[in-house]
Parts: sequence; C-alpha cells; structure tokens
Amino acid sequence: MTITAKYCNNCNYILHADKNHCASCFSDDLETKELKGLGEVYSYTKIHAAPKDYADIAPYYIVLIDLDEGLRITGRYIGESVEINQKVKVDNVDKNAYIFKALEE
Ligand SMILES: [Zn+2]
Repeated sequence: MTITAKYCNNCNYILHADKNHCASCFSDDLETKELKGLGEVYSYTKIHAAPKDYADIAPYYIVLIDLDEGLRITGRYIGESVEINQKVKVDNVDKNAYIFKALEE
C-alpha cells in the first residue's frame, strides 16, 4: 500500500494528490510520486460514538500524521493505544481512509 502526493516541478513544493496547482508558486506543472508511507503522529482523537458504518470498529483513533516527506494527512489508527510523536506506517486503505499502524523498531 502506498500514498501518493504531487510535487511541483517548478519549486519542488509537496502537495496533496488531489491538487491541480502548486500552493506556493501556482504552477500547474505537477508530478505524482509515491511516498514511503512513514510518519509520526502529530495529533489524535479517540472515537467512542462512531457513525453507523464504523460502529463495529469503535472505539478507534482518528490520527493526524506528519509524513516523512513533509505532508500532513488524516487517517485511522489500528492499535490499543497511540501517542503523540509515535512512529507509524500506512497499512492499507479502507473506505477512502488511510489506515496506520505502529512502526516496529
Ligand atoms: Zn511550485
């Protein structure tokens, strides 16, 4: 499982994959690249009262991840507990959400 992002060929800024113009220099000369899928937990919240589609997996964590390449994305975290600055890797994609797990070191 990989995460992709776009890089600006004009100024090398990194952007979310759904962007069409560089947020830094407004160029549309963007190139899609694969990311390693590794990062650190920037913030998280635990969901106890889940929407119906997710009730069977509650409680679960929504996490904000700072990827090694410098992009911040949201996802779900699979595990008993999670901490700020914890190292994680993307595991798969479920219902359009990136699923992260702890990175074993
Ligand atoms: Zn740019």
